[in-house]
Amino acid sequence: MKVMKFGGTSVGSAQRMKNMVSLVAAAGNVTVVLSAMSGTTNSLIGISQCICDGELANAAKQIDDLEQKYITTADELLDNKELRDIAQSALNKYFAALRTYLDKPHGIKESKETVAYGEKLSTMLVDLYMKQCGLNSILLDATRFMKINKHGEPDLDYIRENLKAVIKKNPGFDIYLTQGFICRNDEGEIDNLQRGGSDYTASLIGAAINADEIQIWTDIDGMHNNDPRFVEGTSPVSELHFEEAAELAYFGAKILHPTCVLPAKHANIPVRLLNTMKPEATGTTIFNAPSTQSIKAVAAKDNITAIKIKSSHMLLAYGFLRKVFEIFEKYHTPIDMITTSEVGVSVTIDNECCLSEIVSELSELGDVTVDRDMVIICVVGDLQWQNRGFEAEVVNALKDIPVRMISYGGSNYNISILIQKADKTDALKLLSQHLF
Ligand code: ASP
Ligand code: MG
Repeated sequence: MKVMKFGGTSVGSAQRMKNMVSLVAAAGNVTVVLSAMSGTTNSLIGISQCICDGELANAAKQIDDLEQKYITTADELLDNKELRDIAQSALNKYFAALRTYLDKPHGIKESKETVAYGEKLSTMLVDLYMKQCGLNSILLDATRFMKINKHGEPDLDYIRENLKAVIKKNPGFDIYLTQGFICRNDEGEIDNLQRGGSDYTASLIGAAINADEIQIWTDIDGMHNNDPRFVEGTSPVSELHFEEAAELAYFGAKILHPTCVLPAKHANIPVRLLNTMKPEATGTTIFNAPSTQSIKAVAAKDNITAIKIKSSHMLLAYGFLRKVFEIFEKYHTPIDMITTSEVGVSVTIDNECCLSEIVSELSELGDVTVDRDMVIICVVGDLQWQNRGFEAEVVNALKDIPVRMISYGGSNYNISILIQKADKTDALKLLSQHLF
C-alpha cells in the first residue's frame, strides 16, 4: 500500500480536486492524506483570532465568505444531485458548528477546533467526488487514530494500533481517505500537528502501516538544488538521503515539512516528492541513499539572529557551554547553529521572543554581541570528512561575501554558513555557479 498526500494547492479548487482524484484512481491501493484547500487554514486562524478579539461581526462575515467558497466548490465538483445534496447538508452542519464559536468564550481549545474544519471540509468534498467517480473508497476520520502525547509528540504506537483497527473494521477498500494535520491530544481534545503538518501525518501513517512508499504531491517537481525564487536555472534533485532532505527542509526548502522525514526514515520507507501538474516527472526520492560523493543542494533560512558570548573565563574552563545552553533551554529557544573558539561561542536562533531576557542572563557569563537579520545558507550533500575538497569549494564560492559563522562536521551531510541578509541572493547565485 502507498500513501499519497496532497497539499493545499493540489485540492485548491474543484478542478484541482478532480485532477488529484484521477491520480489516485490510477494508483489504486492507497491511503490518501489531504490538506485543507489553500487559504482555508489561514482563514480559519483569522476567524479564530477575530473571535478572540471580540470582533464578532467581522468573524461572522469571514465565516459567510468561506461558506460561499465551499458551496461554489461543491457545485462545480459534484454533478450528481444526490451527492450534491449530501455535500450541501454536510456544509450546513459544518458551518453551523463553526458559527457556534461566535457565542462562547474562545481559548486555545476552541481555536484548535476551529482550524480543524479545513481538513474536514476538503476530505468531505473529495470523498463525495470519489463516490461520484465510482471509486471503491472510504473516508476515515483522522481523529480516531492520530494522536499526540502530552509533549505534543505523535504517539506512533497508538497511531499504528488504532489505524490498523479502523482499517480492519472497514476492509476491502482500494482507497482510504483521511485528513492531514488534525489529531487528538492526550486529553482527547482536537489538536493538530502544527502548520504544514499534513506532510507529517502522511509520514506517520506510512510508518504505521509500513507503506511501500510515501508520496508528497505538490505543484513543483521535487526539491530543487537551489531556491528558484532567487536563482534562475535550478533543477530538481532526483535522489536525496533522509538526512540531506531533513537539513534542506529545516533550512528553508519550503516543499516538505522538516518533521515529515523522521518517521519515514526510522521505518526506512522512501518518500517521493511529486508534481500534480507534471505527474510524469521523476521528482525527488528521499531514502537511505548510498554515498554519492557530491554536493546536491543549497537552501537558505531567513530571520536568523546570531549571539556571541565572549568570556576570558572560558579559557581552559569546563561547564561554560552548559551554562550558556541552560539559558536558551530556560527560555524554550532552540539553537540552530553553533561555532566555538577557546574564548567564545556564537549561536544562532530564529525565535527572538525572549531575546532580551536571554541576552541579559548571558551578559553575566561574558560580553554579548547580537547580530540580527542574518541568513543561514545550508549546503547539503555527501560531506563526510574523508571526502576531500568540498568544504574548500563552498568557502571559495563565497570568497567575496562577508561570512559571520561557518559550521561543518556536525553531520555527514551539511555545511552551514551565516551571512547578512543583504548578501543572500548573491551567495545563493555564487554557490549555484560554483557547485552545479
Ligand atoms: N492545513 C494545514 C496548514 O495549512 C496543514 C497542511 O496543509 O499541511 O498548515
Ligand atoms: Mg505543506
